[in-house]
Amino acid sequence: MQLSKRVSILSPSPTLAITAKANELKRQGVDVVALGAGEPDFNTPQHIIEAAERAMREGKTKYTATAGIPELLKAIQDKFEQDNGLKYTTKQIMVTNGGKHALFNLFMSLLNPGDEVIIPIPFWVSYPEMVKVAEGVPVFVEGLEENAFKVTAEQVKAAITPRTRALVINSPSNPTGSIYTRKELEAIVDVCLSHNILMVSDEIYEKLIYDGHEHVSVASFSKEAYENTVIINGMSKPYSMTGWRMGYAAGNEQLIRAMVDLSSHSTSNPTSFAQYGALAALTGTQEPLNMMKQEFEKRRNRVVELLNSIEGISCLKPEGAFYVFPNVSEAMQKQGFADVDAWAEALLEQEKVALIPGSGFGAKHNVRISYAASMEQLEKGIERIRKFVTGK
Ligand SMILES: *Cc1c(COP(=O)(O)O)cnc(C)c1O
Repeated sequence: MQLSKRVSILSPSPTLAITAKANELKRQGVDVVALGAGEPDFNTPQHIIEAAERAMREGKTKYTATAGIPELLKAIQDKFEQDNGLKYTTKQIMVTNGGKHALFNLFMSLLNPGDEVIIPIPFWVSYPEMVKVAEGVPVFVEGLEENAFKVTAEQVKAAITPRTRALVINSPSNPTGSIYTRKELEAIVDVCLSHNILMVSDEIYEKLIYDGHEHVSVASFSKEAYENTVIINGMSKPYSMTGWRMGYAAGNEQLIRAMVDLSSHSTSNPTSFAQYGALAALTGTQEPLNMMKQEFEKRRNRVVELLNSIEGISCLKPEGAFYVFPNVSEAMQKQGFADVDAWAEALLEQEKVALIPGSGFGAKHNVRISYAASMEQLEKGIERIRKFVTGK
């Protein structure tokens, strides 16, 4: 079958590939410890489920406005004002089928063929692929491990060309869990504004931050920063709602309008009753989120401590999200593996631990371990990694 060039250049999601392999082993009855998950391991809070159920029973099962139901747009508007000090009109906001859909619509609405988007390495796997589908060109800038995997304003500046349209900022980051400080962001914002570059700020892990660190949105820095930022956010991560497909975007009204028009000819509105669930998530109790966050913080502390006790592995302590991104290059060399993919594959085959090799995120020396798994599974998994690396 002859396929379009557009899809021929796509790489399949590496995070999904290893998860599929681990699931296959599980089906065969193998005791696999799965630490690859990119989603919280908690159930969606009960009050959210009930709100969606109620909506269905009340007949809210029909098309809605493409941009989302007015109540939810209003709740998102309030959220921006309360959490981020940002004022948007509801016309500047769009509800989407997950944050992924918001990003996809954004790149499709923003880019012309050959337009460049600067993407920091390590990156969330979908950014470069989405840019390519939109006929843009991803331009990579490497965040060094010495700088907690974050890029500097100087690095961003050096990557700018006349074709640069946007910079992707993902703080807290998937896969590293790193958070940019206000000062670091200020310098990056200055560079972007002086070169007229749109900041695409993926803030989906905003609520999952530890040790009292704070999240700052680049949009909140100045009027110019606000005008040159599109914020992407969603319910998947903070409310454990990955399967609901609920996300949103906010920014320039004209751009949001284009994104809505694009959706009106493709997906139409996000699922009607799921929007009522999202409404309950934003306006209801935040207690389940706080509990989940506390549990994640405990696990993070334990996981970092255990990993650093393994000779050949070193692990920074991330400030947010639910991933750690340990460096395994020393272990890899000692064990004689050519690359991190081979290392991760052998780990799955020999010790039955599934994690994600960093190659999918643009990183050669690291692997991503998700601590969206029970403490018991995490401890068991890391013991197996120890055995794999040290032989005891
Ligand atoms: C999970 C994730 C998203 C979006 O997920 P959705 O389920 O589509 O809302 C966006 N960005 C990052 C960095 C993520 O990890």
